[in-house]
Amino acid sequence: MILKDTIVALATPSGAGAVAIVRVSGPKAIESVADVFESVKNKDLRKQKTHTLHLGYIKDGEKIIDQVLVSLFKGTNSYTGEPTVEISCHGSTFIQQQIIQLLLRKGCRMATAGEFTMRSFLNGKMDLSQAEAVADLIASDNEAAHQLAMQQMRGGFSNEIARLREELLNFASLIELELDFSEEDVEFADRSAFRDLINRIQFVLKRLIDSFAVGNVIKNGIPVAIVGEPNVGKSTLLNAILNEERAIVSNIAGTTRDTIEDELVIDGIGFRFIDTAGIRETKDVVESIGIQKTFEKIEQAQVVLYLFDSLKFKVQSSEYIIEIEKIKNKYPLKPLVVIINKVDLLSEGELNEITSQLETLNLKLDPSGANWHLQTISAKQNIGIEELKNALLSFVNTGALRNNETIVTNTRHYDSLLKALEEIQKVQYGLDMGISADLMAIDIRQALFYFGEITGQVTNDELLGNIFANFCIGK
Ligand code: GDP
Ligand code: ZN
Repeated sequence: MILKDTIVALATPSGAGAVAIVRVSGPKAIESVADVFESVKNKDLRKQKTHTLHLGYIKDGEKIIDQVLVSLFKGTNSYTGEPTVEISCHGSTFIQQQIIQLLLRKGCRMATAGEFTMRSFLNGKMDLSQAEAVADLIASDNEAAHQLAMQQMRGGFSNEIARLREELLNFASLIELELDFSEEDVEFADRSAFRDLINRIQFVLKRLIDSFAVGNVIKNGIPVAIVGEPNVGKSTLLNAILNEERAIVSNIAGTTRDTIEDELVIDGIGFRFIDTAGIRETKDVVESIGIQKTFEKIEQAQVVLYLFDSLKFKVQSSEYIIEIEKIKNKYPLKPLVVIINKVDLLSEGELNEITSQLETLNLKLDPSGANWHLQTISAKQNIGIEELKNALLSFVNTGALRNNETIVTNTRHYDSLLKALEEIQKVQYGLDMGISADLMAIDIRQALFYFGEITGQVTNDELLGNIFANFCIGK
């Protein structure tokens, strides 16, 4: 049984830092560390209380490896639910390795990826969806993703599922009781109350399933396509948004000038700008190969920014207008933000002329304006940037997030929810058709199985292996 082993790993990132933490967990955690630890006050670690800190030295025989601070978690009062010791040592990789190797010699074994969290799950400290949220939390790089992971880790999602499962389980037992009395033709399970429950479950499942689209984009960043010819000001625009937000940025390999055209955070929501590097190679105008590439980008996006240079619009407005029409006709429901850049170079009269042409186009293509926004900006002089950000946010469906509703972010949960819904729909059908209790019981059991898969009440080693393999070692 794996829980009998005492495991050890570095809990902080590998490499040198000011401090590193070596985590030891398992039945022999405290003994193993006590064997190599010499307290400055000559205390025996085995005799100390839980949740206490101790200063001392890690020694390999007579050789001092480092001065460290040791945190003790005894009994089940730890992250993993088993005795745990955390050794805070100096951050050199040499010291980290020496301490880990010493503990390995004392009978600990290297932890596998995610094993600390897996133990926490196996010891009943958290359910499976909470454990999975730990990985999301570590990976979250914007406020919205962080909020979702926190919500899930604190059990928001699994509580909802567990409650429904509980109610369904009650009915399942009643219906199965009927089977024992099948001769007498009794109904223990009130069919109309059961129907109510089935309706309620379907409602909740559908909402959770729908929320996945939102959850997924929030977790991975909301995809935005920027469409625009070279030199219309895409990079300048992203810089303008960025400067204000001081947001995190990741680089696209191989680009020098446009390194920021990847991901930014606006108002706590992560946005991912799609393939903006590619656009420099193709000219996004009608009848060029560009249009196909443009469509491919738009396909993946949740919002489209169509950017053009207002000076050029004066001379080639019809080309731009045809392209906007093509995009809007192909993707009528995809929010489109038409951006007139470099307005600082125009007179007021010229700008009014362009705006009114585009407003006519708006009326023609999206009369309600529900999926259309026109924005004049100067990326260079920071005009209209705030309004643009607001428009972008208004097109992003984060209502559920703001209302603190449960949102599904995990593909595995999404799959189980879809399957559970399918089974519940069979139960509903069975109720409508008045099928016998024994047949209905089978579908209910199956639905319960899928609910259990989410929270981890139903698991198998392969599933657990897959989930925790995605964690880093030391977590
Ligand atoms: P990209 O190729 O679409 O990324 O375009 P860039 O952001 O690299 O901008 C191309 C040129 O247009 C640069 O020289 C920018 O300084 C200039 N530019 C961008 N936005 C504006 C603007 O609002 N006003 C003016 N006058 N120039 C701009
Ligand atoms: Zn650029």
